[in-house]
Amino acid sequence: MPSTKTIIVSNRLPIRIEKEGDSLNYVPSEGGLATALGSIYKEGENIWVGWPGAAFEQEALKAEVTEGLKKESMRPVFLTEQELEDYYLGFSNQTLWPAFHYFLQYIQYVEAHWQTYESVNRKFADAIATYANPGDTIWVHDYQLLLLPGMLRERFPNMTIGFFQHIPFPSYEVFRILPWRRQLLEGMLGADYLGFHTYDDMRHFLSATHRLAGYPYSGNRIQLDKRVVVADPLPMGIDYEKYAENAVHPESIDREARYRENIGAQRLLLSMDRLDYSKGIPKRLLAFEALLERYPQYKEKVSLLLVVVPSRDVVPNYQSLKEQVDELVGKINSKYGRMSWQPIQYFYRSYPFRALGAFYRMCDVAVITPVRDGMNLVCKEYVASRENQDGVLILSEMAGAAKELADAILVNPTNQNQVVEAMHQALQMPLEEQQRRMRIMQKGLRKYNIFQWVKLFFDNLQEVKRMQRAMATPLLDGAGRDAMLKAYAKSEQRLLLLDYDGTLVGFREDPLDCAPDQDLRELLTALAADKANKVVVISGRKHETLGEWLGALPIQLVAEHGLWSKQVDGEWTRNAADTTSQWRDGAHEIMQFYVDRTPGSFVEEKSDSMAWHYRKVEKGLGEMRKSELTSHLKHMLGEKGLQVLDGDHVVELKPEAVNKGRAAAGLHAEATYSFVLCIGDDTTDEDMFEALPDEAFTVKVGPGSSYARSALETVGDVHALLRDLKEV
Ligand code: UDP
Repeated sequence: MPSTKTIIVSNRLPIRIEKEGDSLNYVPSEGGLATALGSIYKEGENIWVGWPGAAFEQEALKAEVTEGLKKESMRPVFLTEQELEDYYLGFSNQTLWPAFHYFLQYIQYVEAHWQTYESVNRKFADAIATYANPGDTIWVHDYQLLLLPGMLRERFPNMTIGFFQHIPFPSYEVFRILPWRRQLLEGMLGADYLGFHTYDDMRHFLSATHRLAGYPYSGNRIQLDKRVVVADPLPMGIDYEKYAENAVHPESIDREARYRENIGAQRLLLSMDRLDYSKGIPKRLLAFEALLERYPQYKEKVSLLLVVVPSRDVVPNYQSLKEQVDELVGKINSKYGRMSWQPIQYFYRSYPFRALGAFYRMCDVAVITPVRDGMNLVCKEYVASRENQDGVLILSEMAGAAKELADAILVNPTNQNQVVEAMHQALQMPLEEQQRRMRIMQKGLRKYNIFQWVKLFFDNLQEVKRMQRAMATPLLDGAGRDAMLKAYAKSEQRLLLLDYDGTLVGFREDPLDCAPDQDLRELLTALAADKANKVVVISGRKHETLGEWLGALPIQLVAEHGLWSKQVDGEWTRNAADTTSQWRDGAHEIMQFYVDRTPGSFVEEKSDSMAWHYRKVEKGLGEMRKSELTSHLKHMLGEKGLQVLDGDHVVELKPEAVNKGRAAAGLHAEATYSFVLCIGDDTTDEDMFEALPDEAFTVKVGPGSSYARSALETVGDVHALLRDLKEV
């Protein structure tokens, strides 16, 4: 038995490979994620799999890099220039990135990019498959690898797979624009546990899954065909102490002094991000200009320290953004600048860690106003770096971090007036108030730091696995199936209780479109031909319909959840449980009220029950109305001995004394059976599973937890089982 290990997967390995003369140097990344996961991937057999950061083409070089990385517990996935172009710059950064950040006008729809995205994800899956064992835990990171969880699931059905999305997940209305939406979702759903930065991201994902792939969810659990998976908000933190220490490190303090010599002593607002249209840099510059216009007292007293880190500069949108920023800075500096004062101190480059410490120390205010940002770490780092708890954070509502940092000055980044006033408020804020706000924010960030985030992710992932195991109804196969066939062969008197819809026939849009075909009729007839068998179809359907479809067969029928029954060759008899039907008018009125408000829904009148169907109603709306109707019915009619049943896309109201469980128990008591089989698919069948004795073979069709002892996946599997029984 191989030992189990943990495999971290991300597009990029947390390392920089530098050429020095003839040899290669491996410089580990200092990023927060790499630090937090360091204690994990460097342990035992664990590894981190990803692209090594450059297109190595020669085989000898690849072998050398592979060897070098092995010492760092890393495994490379090599990508060609063309793959990087199409998968990374193309699909990841020019399709998914703009779509997920709500920049619809920038989305590129290029089939070739998609195909490479798929093949590179497969390349990752192939690489992982060479290292992984079925019992391992895999954590996949981010939007470049959305298909990977699904591809891994195909190969390792029971593996523990987690996924974290580091960028926003857009509203269903935006996500559905993508031609490849379904594949992307199915890919993500290969994971057992999916983490998002915010509750809204998670909500959007659940809604997209439900509406586009049809999977129902309740709370944050999604019911797939074979598994339950969980989506969860889990905001990523920072390595708090590292930033707090960096801010007081002698080198940071020294750098601050040096920078001050050049910049001067004026107060500073900080703007620091990668060059990206999602960061709202031009809007921020315009707001700063408006501040100088509206409050001229800040001239010569306040400057904006503008750090823009180069990023994706081969993409045309980014090039034009760079030009736009350059132009704005030039315009504002030439318009307002004096010999002794430059309004904007602009740096287009990336800085080492100690320099960041100096910037965070120096600036009285951080202006973090992205138009959309999955999380934003700079704002958290700024807060952690304020040793005296002074300083003010202005933060965009559109950054995931805003959900945690309610004590920042929160702004809508497109509202220039609000941003200008926020800058003014920040520059005027009394020290006491600065410290009050900063203290609260520091406390939160210190607690929910990145180590806590990693721990919670793994804890939650394991918890989901435990839940999956507890809920699983084992499939009826192998030994279980053989045992059933043997028991069947041995027994002399058998009872077969078969639900109809979802068990013997699949669901159709129109419930009247589900008549049994010739095969099914023959199968039931053949089973009934064995004198030892009593075959009963037991359904919630109207007795008229059931009679029309199955009345001529040599089987017994039970309709409307047990209210009507019919012996072989007999007439329908009504098991009068409810003599009054006074509830009908009231119930009809309520159901009609929901029909009027819910296009696609309709009421079905049965002899002693009433059903509201919503199979054809818009997804989401149907479920919402179902909940409303259910509580409405319970509230209005609960006292009248009625029961509200929650079926598959149907809410049914019927007298309490009638249910399939009672009917099944009644049938079972009629004789001494040495073999009992009961098969059903929905909540109304659970009553039968519960009512029958433990030795009965109870089988649930489809996914989900159940009282049944075993499960079959599809209607086809039910037919196959019945055919096997017939052959015994
Ligand atoms: N950063 C850096 N060098 C710089 C400027 C910023 O390493 O010159 C770091 C910064 O400390 C932060 C990260 O880059 O950790 C930016 O993360 P964020 O989530 O704010 O934005 P992203 O770039 O991921 O969209």
